[in-house]
Amino acid sequence: MEPKNCHICGVKEGEIHKFGCEIELCPFCGHQIISCMCIYEYLHIEESKEPTDKETEQWIEIIEQKGRIPYQIEIDNLIDAIAYYKGFDINESTHNRIVKKIT
Ligand SMILES: [Zn+2]
Ligand SMILES: [Zn+2]
Repeated sequence: MEPKNCHICGVKEGEIHKFGCEIELCPFCGHQIISCMCIYEYLHIEESKEPTDKETEQWIEIIEQKGRIPYQIEIDNLIDAIAYYKGFDINESTHNRIVKKIT
């Protein structure tokens, strides 16, 4: 089988996504990192504000300490499925099972 790259940021399987890639999952909640609210929770910043560059840098440090989730074809397919079935939201336990399986 040919090695597959993340179709958003281009990293190879097993590598960490470029920050901001919509395929990357949050190591804290298992949801897409670009849309989860953990950055606000962990940095104690207001949800109504866009994080500053400095706050984003701090956030990257936090998720790196926790262990960022590398690109896996499985997750890519999952996110594709979510995007495809717009409005269909996979539940928490499915997310957690997938995150557990790969971490
Ligand atoms: Zn990516
Ligand atoms: Zn999160």
